[in-house]
Amino acid sequence: MNSDQQGAEEAFSGSPQKDRRLMVERLRAQGIRDERVLEVMGRIPRHCFISEQYWDQAYANHPLPIEEGQTISQPYIVALMTETLALKRTDRVLEIGTGSGYQTAILAELAAEVYTIERSRVLLMGTCARLEAAGYPNVHVRLGDGTLGWDEFSPYDVIIATGATPKVPPSLLRQLGEGGRFVLPAGDRQVQRLWLIERHKAELNKRELCYCSFLPLMGKEGWPEEEPTRHH
Ligand code: SAH
Repeated sequence: MNSDQQGAEEAFSGSPQKDRRLMVERLRAQGIRDERVLEVMGRIPRHCFISEQYWDQAYANHPLPIEEGQTISQPYIVALMTETLALKRTDRVLEIGTGSGYQTAILAELAAEVYTIERSRVLLMGTCARLEAAGYPNVHVRLGDGTLGWDEFSPYDVIIATGATPKVPPSLLRQLGEGGRFVLPAGDRQVQRLWLIERHKAELNKRELCYCSFLPLMGKEGWPEEEPTRHH
């Protein structure tokens, strides 16, 4: 925890440590078993990734607004996705949709290197500063369309998309290495299924985890960018 986070820890009304403990107990009751995931989520100050006006709900099990009309996913989904990725200390991870950087921080604690792509410059500016202050030298950030992946550092051991696409983006599949795990929500705009895809040699195994509802990834292999409004 850095000095900003320490300050936020003290400014929090009530006890963030206690709220985090309760959140972890709830995650356990909901079926999360990976102790490393539970330990990290019990330690990272989630409230530092959202605006102060939502601090009273920082550890509740629902999504919360961040800037640019986006949201930080609910803790259960974050825990489920992270657990499913079965991260190893040596893994190189590609994340699509940096958002607040909360999921990024969790990945950075459990893997070797995290390459994360965000489409919104506004979000990324705040998030970069936050991640840098928190001290994650193993996080590499890029502004751009993450549905195309980040070819330069591929193949990845793990890929995670924290926004939904209509289909599995072929570019991301191509960048998944041998033995790699890829978790993503894919489906229609309102409701999707959460998928785990594993690569074994030439074979791809696909398993459905649950129904879910994520914001869309807008991009070449995601949803089409919104048409600019025309004024006549
Ligand atoms: N994981 C984030 C929440 C992400 S919400 C967190 O913990 O806070 C989905 C994010 O995907 C938003 O920040 C949105 O701006 C971003 N996004 C949408 N389309 C994208 C694209 N094509 N490439 C990268 N990021 C994208």
